[in-house]
Amino acid sequence: METMTIGGRAVEGAGTFGVENPATGRVFAQAPECSPEQLDEALHAAADAFPAWRSDEGARRDLLRAAAKRVEDAADELAALITAEQGKPLADARLEVQGTVAGLRFVADLEVPREVLADDGQARVELVHQPFGVVAAITPWNFPVAIAGLKLGPALLTGNTVVLKPSPFTPLSTLHLGGLLRDVLPPGVLNVVSGSDPLGARLIAHPVPRKISFTGSVATGRKVAAAAADDLKRVTLELGGNDAAILLDDFDVDALADRLFWGAFLNSGQVCAAIKRVYVPRRLHDVVVDALADRARSVVVGDGTAEGTRLGPLTTRPQFERVSELVADALARGATAVTGGGPLDREGYFFQPTILRDIDDGVRLVDEEQFGPALPVLAYDDVEDAIRRANATHYGLDGSVWSADPERAAAVAERLECGTAWLNTHALPHPAVPFGGWKHSGLGVESGVPGLVAFTESKVLYRVKG
Ligand code: NAD
Repeated sequence: METMTIGGRAVEGAGTFGVENPATGRVFAQAPECSPEQLDEALHAAADAFPAWRSDEGARRDLLRAAAKRVEDAADELAALITAEQGKPLADARLEVQGTVAGLRFVADLEVPREVLADDGQARVELVHQPFGVVAAITPWNFPVAIAGLKLGPALLTGNTVVLKPSPFTPLSTLHLGGLLRDVLPPGVLNVVSGSDPLGARLIAHPVPRKISFTGSVATGRKVAAAAADDLKRVTLELGGNDAAILLDDFDVDALADRLFWGAFLNSGQVCAAIKRVYVPRRLHDVVVDALADRARSVVVGDGTAEGTRLGPLTTRPQFERVSELVADALARGATAVTGGGPLDREGYFFQPTILRDIDDGVRLVDEEQFGPALPVLAYDDVEDAIRRANATHYGLDGSVWSADPERAAAVAERLECGTAWLNTHALPHPAVPFGGWKHSGLGVESGVPGLVAFTESKVLYRVKG
């Protein structure tokens, strides 16, 4: 059984809970359930490790590089665990691990900004950024290793120590990551605890962490923000999205339909920054529907361990039920499933890649974050109308505009209310680029130098001259 990492030791839980393989729907492993006392121990171990860890930036950089190497060397075993508990194809799981390794290496070379604000006859004033101490990091189930890495790298480089809690649906790969880094990082610098949702609530309510880095749903994000308010803990929230792609009338279907399809269907649509609605000029509507439906029909869906699988199952039973419900609701309201439209007739949480037409705003599948392999294609007559509809949501994570004319696309992208607007692509992460959502999609950013700064308090150093 995978163990927790607390104070540099491998620790079994006070109890255990089952982890399902979504390709079968059956429990295939047990994970440790962290007790309140063990959580307390982890947080105090992190607090004890902080003074030494923050004191040597060079050592932190070296150890982050060593951590990246350790993860790289264990890529196959980590990828196998990701596929077993999360469901994505093994090739995608390997990419997830490789992306994590590249991200850790990138962060190890970043400079924490230090700025001279004034230097004149009177004073020299600098703005510096200093670590919080202990960071609580909480992650969801769609990219268990990558999202853990997005938090660990910057939190550790800036001199914080961490207590990390993965989703109870996908704890094993994160626990394994903690085990790998036990050999690399000093005891207490990284602690990994696992358990159900109340463990997350206890972690953020605890007085030790000064900063919470949370990725998950809007509903939980609200609870996290409310719990943090009591003690005015600093919070970064990376939450859900309902990203719109707007195709302009010069969209090149043959050249870009593949990229459009994968912008929506990667990881079976379980990507915060996936395309969840496509707005298409009425003239192009049928051609685009057909191009997407061709791809949805031919994509190989199956067990992530099987050769050739491009799409795995949905990761959790609640998610499978939610996508089934939203698609059934859309069909009942007059939508047509050009292809797909329901679960696959096999064990596990498989859903057919689904392209829907004859559907409009106001239907739950369009208005809510469906987080599954079901894409509504919506016609528009006037690009102003498409922009208005794209923005008519509480979400504001990402959006994209697709056109042969970069100037026209940029002009529309400027007007999207979201953290990232892509041109002719969607959801292309880069470790140098800050990522975050407007409106209910989040608070603050992750990645890049702004993502480093998010793990620090700023301080003004004001030295009077003479
Ligand atoms: P979730 O909110 O149900 O759970 C996320 C994490 O929070 C889990 O570890 C869970 O155990 C923990 N948690 C639950 N209740 C808690 C509480 N009261 N206090 C503290 N922690 C608590 O989300 P999920 O279903 O695991 O993930 C899917 C969601 O994550 C989707 O909405 C998706 O869009 C979003 N997401 C966002 C990003 C982003 O970067 N913006 C990235 C990936 C996923």
